[in-house]
Amino acid sequence: MTKSGYRPTIGVECHVQLKTKTKLFSGVNNDAREAPPNTLVSHIDFGLPGALPVLNREAIHLASKAAFALNSSPQPFSKFDRKHYFYPDLPMGYQISQYDEPIIIGGSVDIEVDGQIKTIGITRAHLEADAGKSIHPSGQNYSLVDLNRCGTPLLEIVSQPDLNSAQEAKAFAHELYLAMRYADVSEADLYYGNMRFDVNVSVSNNDQLGIRTETKNLNSFRSVEKAVEYEVKRQIELLEKGQPITQETRGWDDAKQKTFLQRTKENADDYRYMPDPDLPPVVLSQEYIDKVAAEMPVMPNQWRAKLKSLELSSSQIETLLDAEVDLAHINYLSLIDKVKDQPKTAKFLANWFVNLEIPLQRERKGAKLEDKQRLEIYREVDRLYTSKLLSSTNVKILLIDLLSSKDQPDNIEKYAADQGLTQSSDENELGQIVSRVIKDNPKAAQDVASGEAKAIGFLIGQVMKLSQGKANPTTTQDIIKKQLGL
Ligand code: MN
Repeated sequence: MTKSGYRPTIGVECHVQLKTKTKLFSGVNNDAREAPPNTLVSHIDFGLPGALPVLNREAIHLASKAAFALNSSPQPFSKFDRKHYFYPDLPMGYQISQYDEPIIIGGSVDIEVDGQIKTIGITRAHLEADAGKSIHPSGQNYSLVDLNRCGTPLLEIVSQPDLNSAQEAKAFAHELYLAMRYADVSEADLYYGNMRFDVNVSVSNNDQLGIRTETKNLNSFRSVEKAVEYEVKRQIELLEKGQPITQETRGWDDAKQKTFLQRTKENADDYRYMPDPDLPPVVLSQEYIDKVAAEMPVMPNQWRAKLKSLELSSSQIETLLDAEVDLAHINYLSLIDKVKDQPKTAKFLANWFVNLEIPLQRERKGAKLEDKQRLEIYREVDRLYTSKLLSSTNVKILLIDLLSSKDQPDNIEKYAADQGLTQSSDENELGQIVSRVIKDNPKAAQDVASGEAKAIGFLIGQVMKLSQGKANPTTTQDIIKKQLGL
């Protein structure tokens, strides 16, 4: 509910590009990212008369995995339909899509906003072939068409209108991204438009839903959030002025951070859907469905549950979940999982991943290390820290040093000592230094003894100085107190 008493209602549609090697109905390479225009096109993608589509088995496999990622299960029976419209980048004159019997029906995605978990329903998800791309060179009186994207397999996911704020819409888009990445069905590279979001937004201050607008082709989580925010505000302002909302399709201007009118919808579009006579229905056996279910990896929510038992904060957990797919060359989560029997080590690993290594990798300063090597480094540094040979400041210095170099020392403890990073916790040795410091600083010692807690810092500082920084501060403090009879 906004402060003016209007409640936003939001539904999201998302086109996810599936990571098949070839297109949905032809044998042409599906990765058009660096290809010159119109080089990845066959007679099928061109829609030449007589060309017959052949369904890509892997697209069905990936869509089936996506079904499980959406807490659903693939439909045993689905079919393809033709959706007719005319546009220069659609040479067949129709898009092959799924209309009344899609491959995924129902499902859900959990999101968390401000510590509240909310379940967002999935209405359906269908497979379809992408269209090409129209390019309008500025200042020219012509347009160009690139058909490389024609026939790329898309999974269009449609949510229920269960979202009620811009933050929820953003969280939902992000959670879909994680689901698709963890299920490994899409590269989900937003920069290349591998996931494109449409948001349906309406506002109302009574129990009836308001008229909605659809803002299309948002390609970042932030633009999903900002477009919803903008639409909610725009619609409330219109209603407050007594003006009607019109049902329309809008675009998003990222530079101006505004939505703009693309076309008004007076009637529902008439796509004249009909079953595609060139494609047989897709029939999946229970055996096939079970086999795909068994292939599913550990999904984000399962990881969250595992990581929560390590008492990590939810922002630390989200950082780890994102890094696992954004910085995919390091298997953060499975490394933590490997040492889960030693919760202290697992927590040490998680903390330093979040606070040190992930930022280091994002700045591209980290070395390429094998999982095994990395785990050895963390284990040994953790051991030195636990046995109080390293202060937490020096843990950081040592880790940065080790993680940004390809050549690893044979003996980390010796290396740390050579670098002057280890500290002494030897009580005898420290005890002698402490006695000397107390003797040389009777005033400060007296203050500490009579309960002036602050003065102890000064004494610790003196011990550090005499030990050339090697004294463990916690142990030193204990010894000072002991010697002063506290
Ligand atoms: Mn679509």
